[in-house]
Amino acid sequence: MRIAVLAEQAPGERRVAATPETVKKFIGLGATLAVEAGAGSGASIADSAYTDAGASIADRAATLAGADLVLGVQGPDPSSLAGVAPGAWVAAILNPFGERARVDAYAAAGVEALAMEFMPRITRAQSMDVLSSQANLSGYKAVLDAAAEYGRAFPMMMTAAGTVSAARVFVMGVGVAGLQAIATARRLGAQVSATDVRSATKEQILSLGAKPIFVENVAGIEGEGSGGYATEMSAEYQAAQAELVSSHIAKQDIVITTALIPGRTAPRLVSDAQLATMRPGSVVIDLAVEQGGNVEGSAPGEVVERHGVKIVGHRNVPSRLAADASALYARNLFNFLSAFWDKEAGRPVLPDGDEIGDAVRLTRGGQVVSARLLG
Ligand code: NAD
Repeated sequence: MRIAVLAEQAPGERRVAATPETVKKFIGLGATLAVEAGAGSGASIADSAYTDAGASIADRAATLAGADLVLGVQGPDPSSLAGVAPGAWVAAILNPFGERARVDAYAAAGVEALAMEFMPRITRAQSMDVLSSQANLSGYKAVLDAAAEYGRAFPMMMTAAGTVSAARVFVMGVGVAGLQAIATARRLGAQVSATDVRSATKEQILSLGAKPIFVENVAGIEGEGSGGYATEMSAEYQAAQAELVSSHIAKQDIVITTALIPGRTAPRLVSDAQLATMRPGSVVIDLAVEQGGNVEGSAPGEVVERHGVKIVGHRNVPSRLAADASALYARNLFNFLSAFWDKEAGRPVLPDGDEIGDAVRLTRGGQVVSARLLG
């Protein structure tokens, strides 16, 4: 079983799909590991750390030659995969809805593409869940990015020169990223409030010491819904939410938005008119900027100023914490592949009908086979 670990080619991608720790573990299972030279540099992992762990270091062509399994963070360009073994697996975050043509190209190239972000949200797969491991770090980093842009302090400070008041932070969307943003902002001493369409989050917000701000007169999503994800809300709900946000947002210093709906563009939660009511110097972090944005006027990769309010739209926030993001992502990959390791075959096997395999597998035998993609 030859495993290839690629250097990422997407601009700004600093993460890597394997660490010396997971290299050692794969070797322990009997695999042979080849790592593309420089693959770990963005995450502060030297080539020598991989060789010390037992991998070989090579250029891309030699890394891929005869590989049965290719590990990436973002989906590799299908045309760059020449030389892999027929039917090789490619496991990465493949953005299947956004990059549908690339999925077709994986099928045409005869590889089995495994989309790590399609991992089902079930107990058995928690340790394999890349969306959670990366979103958690994004939520943390969003608060630090806000603090860095904000010209005031987060905690209340009583000093001889007078009192500095605590920053008011409002988190919109309380999934994995939002929960970590609440916890991080609280640790920095901010006064935190938060909202979501799923009423189950109300208790989670309270348990973190923050104030829930919820639409009360129109039904939201009770419980967790299918897989715990949100769906698009009714026009009536959206209007009630906009009214609630308008009255709340004017009093906030920092707003962090994280709201996503799988397979759709992100819901619009903050309008330009609402931004205009905020105090100059306020900061808005739009973690959904690459999925269309929760905030009117946010731009991917830019810090935009509107009405004296900074709107921060960093791309690929987990990559801004590349060492930790890589360590967690690499463990997610190892946990997934080792759970399906067939000792006799000396390789992972995804049995047909298995909930995890059927969810993540996008292509097989030259065809696109993912139920989510085929609709
Ligand atoms: P996500 O990234 O898809 O969305 C972020 C948040 O935005 C969600 O809480 C969502 O409800 C919210 N949202 C969507 N539309 C909104 C709107 N119009 N206004 C306000 N908020 C809106 O979510 P996620 O972080 O991936 O988490 C989704 C769910 O999955 C959560 O319930 C989480 O607890 C659950 N989960 C379960 C497991 C598991 O293994 N059991 C693992 C991870 C996450």
